[in-house]
Amino acid sequence: MAMMAFYSRFKDLAFKETRVCTVLPGRAMPADEYGFLEFYCDDTRCDCRRVIIKVLGHHSGDKVWATISYGWEAPEFYRKWAGTDLLDAEEMCRPTLDPLNP
Ligand SMILES: [Zn+2]
Repeated sequence: MAMMAFYSRFKDLAFKETRVCTVLPGRAMPADEYGFLEFYCDDTRCDCRRVIIKVLGHHSGDKVWATISYGWEAPEFYRKWAGTDLLDAEEMCRPTLDPLNP
């Protein structure tokens, strides 16, 4: 599965809906305006119902400050989708920082 940027297919809607967070000087992160860009799976046979949100600063190029995973369905959905109880379905339903791309 490939994660595709929401803005690459729905540019106008993404422009309207993308959330931005302004960090003022004197904080742990550099002062900047940070955009939360959404990425979704583009496999039409897949129904994973998850979003990956990448946080990018307006003045820091393509540096990704955080990668957040989030599933908006209930844990039961992800247990069925994965076909196993071993999956941490509870965790998929909370926003979590991607351990491979913190
Ligand atoms: Zn998928």
